[in-house]
Amino acid sequence: MEQIVVASGNRAKLREIEQIFQGYEVVSMQEAGFCGDIEETGSTFEENALIKARAVCKALGRIALADDSGLCVEALGGAPGVYSARFCGRHGDDAANNALLLQKLAGLPAKQRTAYFESCVALVFPGGKELTAHGRAYGRILEAAEGEGGFGYDPVFYSSELNKSFGRAGAEEKNAVSHRAKALAALAEKLAEEQV
Ligand code: IMP
Repeated sequence: MEQIVVASGNRAKLREIEQIFQGYEVVSMQEAGFCGDIEETGSTFEENALIKARAVCKALGRIALADDSGLCVEALGGAPGVYSARFCGRHGDDAANNALLLQKLAGLPAKQRTAYFESCVALVFPGGKELTAHGRAYGRILEAAEGEGGFGYDPVFYSSELNKSFGRAGAEEKNAVSHRAKALAALAEKLAEEQV
């Protein structure tokens, strides 16, 4: 079975990818022997996904898949966007990121709190072929966190598709509507079209 190396060590992401790319063996970059650090210097989700997938593909000579995602808040002109993980100035401090977001939107009514999560996934082949796809999950930013599930901005994001916060959604519920799941499904479709 052909392998896809995923530029991430996150088990939940790997499982999600495995479910969608069923004809492939999905392995993490660490399992495949890549331990380098990849700097995400792009200004769009697509640039960052391609930077990561190209780096892994080049280092290992195997098909590589990477995703890059974040939260875009319309009242903030699309911020935090590619800076989602480090909105507060420190990488990966979810509590501080959420607190800063709520503070910036303080006083705004629900209809001005619209937001979406966006994900771009990129698949890069050793021969040079590259495929990318996008997915979005729409909703709004709550006035206070609801629920403790998920990660990142999940507790403050109210999904219009689930009619509850991502923090209150189970993993399967969230995967059914998530930006990443939609991007992965669109990518799998593009790959299938390429192979006809
Ligand atoms: P990454 O692309 O998975 O590294 O995500 C970048 C950042 O975007 C994360 O650190 C989170 O802050 C935010 N983010 C991306 N996807 C989600 C999600 O599904 N829920 C909550 N936060 C997310």
